[in-house]
Amino acid sequence: MIRKYIFLSTLLLIFCVCGGQDSLQPIVKTKFLMDTLVEISVYDQDISEEEVTALIDAAFIEIAYLDSLYNNYNEFSYVTYINNNAYKTAVPLDTGLVNLLTTSIHVSELSNGAFDITIAPVLDAWNFGGDVPNVPEESAIRSALSRTGYNFLEIKNNKVKFLKKDMKIDLGGIAKGYVVDRAMSSLVKNGITDAMINAGGDIRTICGPMTENKRSVWIRHPRKREKLFGRFQMDTGSVATSGDYERFFISDSVRYHHIVDPKTGYPADKCVSVTIVSENLMVADAFATAVFVLGPDAGLGFIERLPEIEGIIIYEKNDSLVYKVSSGLVDKFLVN
Ligand code: ADP
Ligand code: MG
Repeated sequence: MIRKYIFLSTLLLIFCVCGGQDSLQPIVKTKFLMDTLVEISVYDQDISEEEVTALIDAAFIEIAYLDSLYNNYNEFSYVTYINNNAYKTAVPLDTGLVNLLTTSIHVSELSNGAFDITIAPVLDAWNFGGDVPNVPEESAIRSALSRTGYNFLEIKNNKVKFLKKDMKIDLGGIAKGYVVDRAMSSLVKNGITDAMINAGGDIRTICGPMTENKRSVWIRHPRKREKLFGRFQMDTGSVATSGDYERFFISDSVRYHHIVDPKTGYPADKCVSVTIVSENLMVADAFATAVFVLGPDAGLGFIERLPEIEGIIIYEKNDSLVYKVSSGLVDKFLVN
């Protein structure tokens, strides 16, 4: 499905300078998957080019397959099945969904509901998943909000049940991270030791001798398309960004974007961009969305309380862009 209003932009770039005379070029392949450009690059020297190419192709197939299970645009997806049936009966989950749903609820609890996958009815009211999004009537937002609440999502014995009628889930804020994690695990299981998967700016890397101390993650400037905001060095890890400039539309000079505050039903307006660094990408993805909703003050406190994540929050103050960096990243982050 083509969503016309979408302004796709890569939030982050990876820039890798590999030194030495016979500096190795990575094998790089790109595909449009999960509604974005996914790039896989592998630096391994000890595996033949044919073998690496086949492993990359297999990783793309895995990404396409997992996305088809966990998106809610496909009428035959697992998530669509849950949305149509989980009020009537508890729906058995696969291991991916157990992981996705329990992590989602965990992040909801930690963020006091800033992250909430049951926000789907509100996203529908805005038609963010459709071709032409619109600003809904207030009554439509209120009615959609009455059908949300992660507390009404029950996970028991690897099954999910909706405790409220007409509930719906949307994994758009977390699934991309999980899918990339799975694809990277497959590469690693097959002997790859130095690779990067970049899914529209959400990135997971593993580092080998060729890339050690050489990978810089750049954060794109959220308001100037061709500019970069800053960078930090990352060997092995994950980084996800949630921004208001990625998918949005403008109506009556107001910018409306796809990250919604579950307390109000309107797009969260305290941040411009939030980048989260953590070990796995599922966690970074979900926390980037959560911190974006929480805003710079509560968001930074939140990051500081969680040892497993670090982050950079860009926001507007008196019409200019300012930023906050969490204590574990402050010495590494270089502003452009
Ligand atoms: P993207 O995946 O587009 O890079 P995000 O990770 O920030 O960006 O996820 C945004 C997506 O998350 C939205 O398109 C929507 O599907 C979902 N979403 C929006 N608001 C929330 C929220 N408060 N909690 C959980 N998911 C949300
Ligand atoms: Mg996210």
